[in-house]
Amino acid sequence: MSSFDLSGKIALVTGASGGLGQAMAIGLAEAGADIIALSHSESHETVKLIRALGRKAELIAVDLSDEALLDGVFAQALGLYGRIDILVNNAGIIRRKPAAEHLRQDWHDVLDLNLNSLFFLSQLVGNHMIERGSGKIINIASMLTYQGGINVPGYTASKHAVAGVTKALANEWASKGIQVNAIAPGYMETNNTAAIQADEKRYNSILERIPAARWGKPEDMKGPTVFLASAASDYMNGHVLSVDGGWMAR
Ligand code: NAD
Repeated sequence: MSSFDLSGKIALVTGASGGLGQAMAIGLAEAGADIIALSHSESHETVKLIRALGRKAELIAVDLSDEALLDGVFAQALGLYGRIDILVNNAGIIRRKPAAEHLRQDWHDVLDLNLNSLFFLSQLVGNHMIERGSGKIINIASMLTYQGGINVPGYTASKHAVAGVTKALANEWASKGIQVNAIAPGYMETNNTAAIQADEKRYNSILERIPAARWGKPEDMKGPTVFLASAASDYMNGHVLSVDGGWMAR
């Protein structure tokens, strides 16, 4: 099991205040990593849970969709432990409105966070990883990396693009010792899907299509994240790993 061990590694996880990001940060900490939790929330819950595991953790509260803040955030994060071995680009939002009425502001807000901050942060951390000759980047994609979705055109555009950026970075950085991959979660019970969970008909119609016969839980992300963050996946580059209870196999 030693190739899955993350002892001594430093992981930067965005959107770590709750949902999938919190579970992934805890999963990485359970495997031995110390955590820098980035989020626009001031909540210290994730940091407290990780410290209770005996690992180090620090919170940086920031609005990642504000491009002007990213250089400073990166410098602050690097200053905490002196290096970053693992970057999980998880922070993301969704805005639901039919395409014909979709607000331009919603489109921009979604793209600014889900795509632009992911690329700019990957650039900053990637350059640091190139200097060190190693690193792991995990981007969070979606089923809407493959499918069109309903009423979420900006989100779908952003998540299709996440797969493209993942492959583009993997191509350029694989030879530099950096593995860039993505995880495409299926339908998971978090704030992101609160609106469709509240719609019983829609919730059940999604449930009926999931071979595993249940919606996903944040904890379902832990194992795949540890795998892609560890030496066990050193020959994986540019892969988008579905964690979806079989949704894509249906
Ligand atoms: P969530 O709403 O519970 O978590 C989103 C996280 O992003 C929170 O920690 C929040 O603080 C952070 N965040 C939001 N805006 C931010 C900003 N401007 N700056 C910094 N941080 C910000 O939702 P989630 O389901 O945990 O979503 C996490 C990721 O997983 C997102 O990229 C989402 O698109 C993706 N995803 C979720 C599902 C699902 O079914 N829940 C499925 C596929 C993909």
